[in-house]
Amino acid sequence: MRLDKFICKHTPFSHQHSRLMIASGRVRVGGDVVTDPRAEVDRFVAVWLDDRQLQGEDAHYLMLHKPPGYLSATEDPQHPTVLDLMPSALRPRLHIGGRLDRSTSGLLILTNDGVWSRRLTEPKQKIPKVYRVKTERPISPETESRFAEGIYLAYENLTTSPAQLEQLDEHEVRLTIYEGRYHQVKRMFAQVGNRVVALHRERMGAIVLDVDLAPGEHRALTEAEVASVR
Ligand code: URA
Repeated sequence: MRLDKFICKHTPFSHQHSRLMIASGRVRVGGDVVTDPRAEVDRFVAVWLDDRQLQGEDAHYLMLHKPPGYLSATEDPQHPTVLDLMPSALRPRLHIGGRLDRSTSGLLILTNDGVWSRRLTEPKQKIPKVYRVKTERPISPETESRFAEGIYLAYENLTTSPAQLEQLDEHEVRLTIYEGRYHQVKRMFAQVGNRVVALHRERMGAIVLDVDLAPGEHRALTEAEVASVR
């Protein structure tokens, strides 16, 4: 974002007044006084107006092994949320990149980088999401071909991208989908006359749930994991 727009957005001052403050040397970006209103401001660089810091947070990218029973929300009057499992100092800053249902377990990404998390979750990016799915009834023979053709979701008026199914046993599959629509896996199985009884996310793109994380534990993503979302 341009520096003048940034100052205007993060202060009560008008655009014209923001440009004036920049020109008079009152704004520092990453430690340097910047007087050019057209200078670009990166997402996490420190920006100061006089002695007031307007931006300068570190970026946080975390994976959580979500246990069942926790809501993918920042607060809820009834149920514990995934943020209750995170360090309290980080809680106000984090948001969720790709929600899971309360009953679903597995890989959940939390970050304060909205641009990055949008890239992770936007359906048009077609990032594969891999789930282990247990079903009430045996997996029927046509499930694989129906999922490969795409399942029509009436509410969104769209057909899901071809999904891949790996049969693990009579009642269990590994499923790869490319969107993250509301209750998508459960709705896909409902359309082939089955019901999901347990759901666990193993992977989003190149980010795989760390086997060393017990349910409820988290760790920072590695640089390579963050960079894998482009
Ligand atoms: N699909 C679902 O139905 N639920 C989830 O939590 C994730 C994908």
